[in-house]
Amino acid sequence: MQLYSIKDLDLAGKKVFIRCDFNVPIDEYGNITDDRRIRAALGTINYCLDQDCAIILASHLGRPKGEYNEKYSLLPVQRRLHQLLKREIKLTKDVAGEHAKKCVTEMKCCDVILLENLRFEAGETANDETLSKALADMADYYINDAFGVSHRAHASVEGITKYFDEHHKAAGFLLQKEIQFFGTLLERPVRPFAAIVGGSKVSGKLEALMNLLPKVDKILIGGGMAFTFLKQMGYEVGKSLVEDDLLDEAQRVMDEAKRLGVKFYLPVDVVAAQEFAADSVSKVTSVQEIPEGWMGLDIGPATVRLYRSVLADTQTILWNGPMGVYEMDRFASGSRKIAHFVADSYATTVVGGGDTADLVQRVGLGEEMTFISTGGGASLELVEGKILPGVQPLVCGEEA
Ligand code: AMP
Repeated sequence: MQLYSIKDLDLAGKKVFIRCDFNVPIDEYGNITDDRRIRAALGTINYCLDQDCAIILASHLGRPKGEYNEKYSLLPVQRRLHQLLKREIKLTKDVAGEHAKKCVTEMKCCDVILLENLRFEAGETANDETLSKALADMADYYINDAFGVSHRAHASVEGITKYFDEHHKAAGFLLQKEIQFFGTLLERPVRPFAAIVGGSKVSGKLEALMNLLPKVDKILIGGGMAFTFLKQMGYEVGKSLVEDDLLDEAQRVMDEAKRLGVKFYLPVDVVAAQEFAADSVSKVTSVQEIPEGWMGLDIGPATVRLYRSVLADTQTILWNGPMGVYEMDRFASGSRKIAHFVADSYATTVVGGGDTADLVQRVGLGEEMTFISTGGGASLELVEGKILPGVQPLVCGEEA
């Protein structure tokens, strides 16, 4: 998929609106605990600065529900940007109100301003036309570099694009990279291609699973979603997470895998616990012998060995979703070990999904993966074969 490129725009000395994804985790003291999303945007920002542009940065942070809430102010982001870019970054007091407009009007070349949290305006998530136009009126050019939110038809992502023709809008470097990477991965993967799919539920990933089946050679299932499949196969899974209404769908996935000749792997053992708690009594058991009333919260050591041998010959690995409740140390072992195999393999390794990316960083293997997507939901929708609403207006050529 070809997108309008920022490199084809004549940006010199102009005002550029860059939609970024600065939705970073912030601790109770107001410190940013992981600034990867901010650093990932620097390529596009620096490129625009080199073109002597005046830059308007915009992002959301958290879910402030359409009104000002100090807790969700972009102040910590402004500070981090100041450190990283080593220049003054002016944070506006509102999103598209009097103060923001005044700051924009007074901008000179190479000034950088950061609008307050877009979601302080209810119109952002409602894709409101008035807000889209007010944001569009601020700049000569629009750049989308917010992959993590491009699956949302929001005012600063989709609505705003209607006010810029093809010579005045484009994808930033980060968005380009994400779209190209997933495009190549899904269209021309080097084989064998394995997908590791985990996380809590089948429901969230059903479409992704169905879309992956014709593309991959192997699927390895882990996490809570495994139990819906195991139950459908006739196993007693105790109190493990099961979506009873999706048992038929689970069967359909397994039937389709069989029909397409895709090897479909489920855990053979689990770490089962009496309760969903970090200090619960737990034990390793085969999937045939999960005690009544217990729940599987991680894949077991036999599954880890099985998955290691299954991954040994793969050339491409796509991983989305943890193998267990990795937030609790006791149930993190399966996910951590899989992270190590994936990192150590010679395959092209792609990690998508916020939890999986978080897990890989926690284990300290972020640098070892070929590509870690900055967007959880967005990467999943790409895998589902959808064209994202924030990307569609930037597609050029025959696919537009
Ligand atoms: P998702 O958002 O669907 O990718 O799911 C991620 C969440 O799934 C994480 O917060 C994990 O704690 C959770 N999870 C993984 N395995 C299990 C399990 N066996 N039972 C319950 N939750 C799980």
